[in-house]
Amino acid sequence: MSKALLYDSTVCIGCKQCEQACATQNGLAYDDAIAAEEYQSAHKLTCIVTRGDKFMRRLCMNCNDPSCASVCPVGALTKTALGPVTYDPSKCMGCRYCMVACPFSVPKYEWGKLFPKVQKCIMCPDRVAQGKQTACAEICPTGATKFGERDDLIAEARQRIHDNPGKYVDHIYGLAEVGGTSVLLLSAVPFESFGYRSDISPDRLPMLTYRVLSHIPDFVPLGGMVLGGVWWITHRRQEVALREGRAANENKSGGKR
Ligand code: SF4
Ligand code: SF4
Ligand code: SF4
Repeated sequence: MSKALLYDSTVCIGCKQCEQACATQNGLAYDDAIAAEEYQSAHKLTCIVTRGDKFMRRLCMNCNDPSCASVCPVGALTKTALGPVTYDPSKCMGCRYCMVACPFSVPKYEWGKLFPKVQKCIMCPDRVAQGKQTACAEICPTGATKFGERDDLIAEARQRIHDNPGKYVDHIYGLAEVGGTSVLLLSAVPFESFGYRSDISPDRLPMLTYRVLSHIPDFVPLGGMVLGGVWWITHRRQEVALREGRAANENKSGGKR
């Protein structure tokens, strides 16, 4: 019963209403200058990329077996049964392993904030839990972004490719990449032309690594380790924030990662 998003770039008109709805949903600012930015950032969790008369969405793929979650030492990122990969800022210690591990370079860090968080699309988990569509799917005027059961959307994507010979690249991006994702993409042109990697393995991360790392929070809270851990995390976040904030100010070009 895992949910997913199907984005069909051939019916996208580039209106960017999905961007605006996403910003509103996540309490982020949105104006003309931000609308013109065609990359994901800590203040823009999804973007429409334009190449000539073609469009493509970029957002967290909400992977079935997310490498970001597998490397997070404190369990701040979680793959939920409904599909979203959620983020708990109260657990995050700012190590940014998730940013290194993500094969799609999705997580972004709030470099300029005193108490920075990692930002990414979390697939509107509160809405999904209430049986609603994601904000971006609800607002989309053409159905280019569609929300539903992952299995149903895969069947629909296959049908669209079958029924429209020559219209689509014969590939559902996200069906198999990194073991499958909760965001599925259809395109008329190769996905690489929009920056999507074509060299991504269909293999999931080694389960041993995943099991070991994902259970660290289960046994870390023991006795003095709790106090020591809280102190270390709190001070580590402040230290990282101050250091990285200074670095970001000195080198503004670092803000895209
Ligand atoms: S795309 Fe990256 S950030 Fe998103 S769930 Fe997958 S590994 Fe995590
Ligand atoms: S699913 Fe939610 S958080 Fe993700 S891009 Fe859509 S509106 Fe934004
Ligand atoms: S709201 Fe729909 S049609 Fe508009 S840019 Fe987003 S995906 Fe494309």
